[in-house]
Amino acid sequence: MRALGVLMPNLLKLSIAACTVLLLAGCSVSPDSNNSIPASPEASEEAIVELTQEQITELITSLPDGKTREALKAHYKAIDEAAKQLEPFEIEYTTGPTADPARVEKVVNQFSDKLKMFQFLGLESLDQDWVLASEKDYQWWVDFRSAQDPSFPVEMWNKEINELGHCRLSADIFCGAGNTVNGKNYQDNVVGTAFTNRGLDSVSRHEAAHFYQAVFGYGGRCWMAEGQATFFETYLESSSRSRDQVLLSLSGSPLGIAQLSESELLGLIENDQICQPDSNIAYDLGMLGYEYLYMNFSFLDVHELQVLSSTEGWNQAVSQVLGIEASELNDALAAYIFAETR
Ligand SMILES: [Zn+2]
Repeated sequence: MRALGVLMPNLLKLSIAACTVLLLAGCSVSPDSNNSIPASPEASEEAIVELTQEQITELITSLPDGKTREALKAHYKAIDEAAKQLEPFEIEYTTGPTADPARVEKVVNQFSDKLKMFQFLGLESLDQDWVLASEKDYQWWVDFRSAQDPSFPVEMWNKEINELGHCRLSADIFCGAGNTVNGKNYQDNVVGTAFTNRGLDSVSRHEAAHFYQAVFGYGGRCWMAEGQATFFETYLESSSRSRDQVLLSLSGSPLGIAQLSESELLGLIENDQICQPDSNIAYDLGMLGYEYLYMNFSFLDVHELQVLSSTEGWNQAVSQVLGIEASELNDALAAYIFAETR
């Protein structure tokens, strides 16, 4: 599933690199290619048990019923389930000239569903310039992105090897890449001309987390953005990589996690250098980080930690939001990750 997964490459690098040139994107979109839909299918047949505002508040401010992975999964399934009662918000996007409108709509509806749980945290619009193109729209896409921002890294769609971000393109695929250029968030997806369902649940679940992060902040640690996306993908989508597969990938990383002592691990976590040996560490170790956070703090508290640590730094955010010293949380995270990777 990793091949289908979407890359959030070097967010910081891209946003720090470059220039003061900031072109307002989206202005050049012609009316007929800029779609805006109330992105949800008709009310589904299955009965949705409506929760009261009080019950919702309880759900997002409480902890799972016990510090087990089963309880954790049940808690987030319940939040996701409760969110189905919400009306979706409007999502804007631009389609490539040969993208099939019905397939595109199906994809956007799926994203809309996966975004609903974040509506409990205040998400009500996206901060994302989103293109959905077909595998045949390469030249159109290059021209479109270049016109929006001449420094847009159009080489992320490599026509020679037929890859966008990390994914190999074909007619039946859905995949893509997100990035930030000059402070603006972009999402580029290919919806293949023969696409049916492959990868849609897990990719949209993963990317929905990034859409939420684009609005509220990617977090003050190297593993937060991908870790949270991987957590929701792994815990809420059966078509995703299993937790065992995530841990297997982590154990094979150049970090050599199984050989690290707990104090070495703690040092890397404290200094936020744990992701450096390999870009996949952010996903795999990050999932464990979110297991710990969501077992010990509520959905809302972790949200506030994520928001504040994006701007104020980790230490400040931990003490302000969670009321504990950052060193205490770092110790606990290191101990949890150490234990889970032996
Ligand atoms: Zn990602």
